[in-house]
Amino acid sequence: RPLKTDRYSGACSGENHSLLEILPDIIYIFDVATQKSVYVSPRVTTNLGYTPEEIQAMGSDRLSCLVHPDDRQALIDQHTQFREARETPGEIEYRVAHREGNWRWIRAYETVLRRDREGRPEQLLGIARDITDRKEIEAARDTAILALQEAERRLAHAQAVAHVGSWEYDVPSDKVTWSLETFRLFEFNPAEGAPSYEALIDRFHEEDRVRLEEGMQNALKRGVAYALDLRLLRRDGIATRWVHIAGRPTIESGRTEAVTRLSGVIQDIDERHQLEEKLRHSDKMQALGQFAAEITHEINNPIAAISGVAQLLERHPEPQVAEDGHTIREMADRAGHIVRSLRKFVQDGSAFPSTSHYPFIDLNTTVKAALALVKRQRTLPAADIEGQYADGLPLVAADAGQIEQIIVNLVTNARQAMAALPRSERILTIHTEFSEEGARRLLVKIGDSGPGIADENRERIFAPFFTTKPRSKGMGLGLSICRSIARAHGGDIRVESAPGTGSTFTLWLPVPPSLYDRSGLR
Ligand code: ADP
Repeated sequence: RPLKTDRYSGACSGENHSLLEILPDIIYIFDVATQKSVYVSPRVTTNLGYTPEEIQAMGSDRLSCLVHPDDRQALIDQHTQFREARETPGEIEYRVAHREGNWRWIRAYETVLRRDREGRPEQLLGIARDITDRKEIEAARDTAILALQEAERRLAHAQAVAHVGSWEYDVPSDKVTWSLETFRLFEFNPAEGAPSYEALIDRFHEEDRVRLEEGMQNALKRGVAYALDLRLLRRDGIATRWVHIAGRPTIESGRTEAVTRLSGVIQDIDERHQLEEKLRHSDKMQALGQFAAEITHEINNPIAAISGVAQLLERHPEPQVAEDGHTIREMADRAGHIVRSLRKFVQDGSAFPSTSHYPFIDLNTTVKAALALVKRQRTLPAADIEGQYADGLPLVAADAGQIEQIIVNLVTNARQAMAALPRSERILTIHTEFSEEGARRLLVKIGDSGPGIADENRERIFAPFFTTKPRSKGMGLGLSICRSIARAHGGDIRVESAPGTGSTFTLWLPVPPSLYDRSGLR
């Protein structure tokens, strides 16, 4: 039986009328065939500014009069679906024009009220709720999220440019948050998340871990901020990168024991550190230059005196005294030579001008002379020397005294390196050979069975002032001077070593072609 719309209008009178007015939603009945609203509850006036009669009068034009052009198709589709499907209550959101011209968002729930004989919906019952406020909040939230994402992107960009990462440690939840740049500095994958406290400490150089732990514990327990320069381990676990870490605790209600959060930054200062190191180094060089100038002055005179007295002793009738006198003079002359070289080295970076014309010398003789010198040094740990000298080596153009100095240095280092070993395990090998690999050269290889050299130090040992020895034992100048000498001769010094397998230093010197090709046919 067809429903009479006045039955619903009737429902609007008396007490029911007030009920429909009190409801915040608009109730309506929609006729599918005519596309008209056959009933609209009075609430429509409060919500949209039109009277129910006005809405009804719009008839099938209702869609084009009221609904936002962008939302019309969705509404038409929904009604088409209703007609075709048997039972499909649906809901839809669309914009409706308020009488005053602004758009209101509506969320409408519709269900089939009446069907024809074939079961197709004829009339729909709808409840429309004004959701404009919610939509506005959602839009404001979306804008805020976009703005936040943009701000985060800018911050990440600034951090990447400045190489400064940020981090946060929330104490109650034990949760660590890192910025992208912090992950990059630590060479961690952001997908894996920030590491635990222990894993974090392990990422720093062994010698720096205690300082970091102290800083963090002080911050957590006493609320003290910290700022430290530390060495961060690279991925290979050996090389390091200098970083500055600053952390600041957040203290709740002024109670230092109630630290709830640590937050701070980590900054890549490796380049700056290297620069500072160079500056410090050049300062040292300058100071050493002055120092060396004074030393040369102060030492040359006594050395000359020692050498003079030794010359007298050399002529002593007692052969043992004469021999000792000879040794003293040799040593004194060598000392004088070293002091003068040191002075030149710090003054112009090299004591050994590469332009000088060296005499031709026999390398084996020079090496043996150097060994004779070190053998007399009783302050060094004793070691047997296994020497192997290749026969028929070509001569090299070199300053014998300077080459001796290199050998003495390398052998001294080797003996010092084996100090901790029992006497029987100290094996020092020295051998000379001719090599045609790449270029023609003579090699002197000095090997020891000491502890070897860590990978990260293998090149650094040649830098001036690099030493792992106590101040009284080493200044860290030996290898740097040796390398300068070797390079001034057109050669070089290399080292092969792995921790635990000892070290082998190779000095090579170029062989001039004319000396190699003795047939003169070249
Ligand atoms: P110094 O002997 O004054 O330390 P050097 O320049 O001669 O200066 O050597 C620099 C550093 O190289 C040493 O402190 C040591 O750590 C390392 N080194 C040199 N020779 C050896 C060696 N044979 N075995 C292990 N380490 C070595």
